[in-house]
Amino acid sequence: MSGWRLEHTYAGLPALFHSPAAPTPVRDPQFVVFNPALAVALGLDVTALDTPAGAAIFAGNALPDGARPLAQAYAGHQFGHFTGLGDGRAILLGEQLTPDGARVDVQLKGAGQTPYSRRGDGRAALGPMLRELVISEAMHALGIPTSRSLAVVSTGEPVQRERALPGAVLTRIAASHLRVGTFEWAAAHRDPAALGALVDYTIRRHDPAAADAPVPALALFDAIAERQAALIARWQLVGFIHGVMNTDNMAISGETIDYGPCAFMDAYDPDTVFSSIDHQGRYAYANQPPIAQWNLARLAEALLPMFADDQAVAIEHANAALERFTTRFRHHWLTRMRGKLGLATEEDDDAALAEALLAWMHATRADFTNTFRALSAPDGPPAALLGEPGFAAWHAQWQARLAREASVPGERTARMQRHNPAVIPRNHKVEAALTAAADHGDLAPLERLLAALATPFDHARVPVEFAEPADSGARPYRTFCGT
Ligand code: AMP
Ligand code: MG
Repeated sequence: MSGWRLEHTYAGLPALFHSPAAPTPVRDPQFVVFNPALAVALGLDVTALDTPAGAAIFAGNALPDGARPLAQAYAGHQFGHFTGLGDGRAILLGEQLTPDGARVDVQLKGAGQTPYSRRGDGRAALGPMLRELVISEAMHALGIPTSRSLAVVSTGEPVQRERALPGAVLTRIAASHLRVGTFEWAAAHRDPAALGALVDYTIRRHDPAAADAPVPALALFDAIAERQAALIARWQLVGFIHGVMNTDNMAISGETIDYGPCAFMDAYDPDTVFSSIDHQGRYAYANQPPIAQWNLARLAEALLPMFADDQAVAIEHANAALERFTTRFRHHWLTRMRGKLGLATEEDDDAALAEALLAWMHATRADFTNTFRALSAPDGPPAALLGEPGFAAWHAQWQARLAREASVPGERTARMQRHNPAVIPRNHKVEAALTAAADHGDLAPLERLLAALATPFDHARVPVEFAEPADSGARPYRTFCGT
């Protein structure tokens, strides 16, 4: 009924990796947002689910047909420190088989306590769950691999944080919730059979080609590192700052997951940090590539026994694979940066050209998104920008570079507009929409925001309301964890 086709391959892993955990019912489930387009893509029946019965399912009050709820166990390095964790407030209902043959996790976030809740209440507040929905759906529209958000349902119950907040449950869809921390969990238990089972499972689910490699675990590691390199390059080139790149928040699938204190940068500054808990700037914009590599090093450590019997050989393999990350990241970054600059050919100095633009942006605190948007305009950047001596000098260099290509300006503009979003989730807009929804029950700003974020590359119809950063007089933006 309703299109559910749930399977449970993860539950077939050794007991170390999961515990049964049923959602705890809530008082009064009401849809705040339902994502019908995603429901259709999942093969779900929108008419049957956009109902009180559907809200009951997405709140955890009723289980969909074939559900077998569990909480996943994992460990993680949080701000550099190793801890045992697990789903403390998330419950996996199962893996939905979609009409196009994919297998995706259906998970309720904020559905009550699990065996891994420690001192937490297992609940989530409405604001942060809406924030995850807004940003994840914006990332998807930007073409960046990400978990998706199917629904946010309010619970009719308060959650106690610094103040009492309205509670909510988010339904999260992801290629899987396997994390670097899942492998660290297996390794920490010194259970080679469990680690082996996890590696086999991950290969089957995400990297079947690795099974035929001379050392499957190494091929798996390489594939994971390649996806991370591609992903982080994409984050950097839209100015996305994840905020909590702990190893438990890095998905093996290469999707962006666990949207907590994330935000998009306005003025270009590599040191930008938004998260109120990131005092050292560990997860600042410029640190995201090296942190991804650091996290991959933790993954390599966990996998070490599977790289080779001889530890010295295993370490050699791991180091070689880790070193390739930097080259991979640079490759993805430069390829996409060429797209942003409208370059169809490759020249040795392209990276320097891009760095020069970034240096000018940093010096003048230029808006990241709007600078590239201005470059993509059919009639070129506005006169005001060209009047800036620093920019004019760079612009002349860029024009000279473009003159060495055969491309037609009109085509080039169209291509650049597909690489440079006109709309991103501006922090003040996200904040205003969440406040209206969570504090005043007014969903109109949220709906306008979601509509604008759904077509970020439509330069011809940019709603002015969503195109500009907050005025520079505004206080530095701070984000808080959704816990
Ligand atoms: P996060 O920072 O959201 O990635 O969460 C880190 C860990 O804390 C994960 O194991 C979560 O499941 C757990 N956690 C976060 N919030 C809660 C909560 N309200 N109740 C129980 N566990 C939580
Ligand atoms: Mg997490």
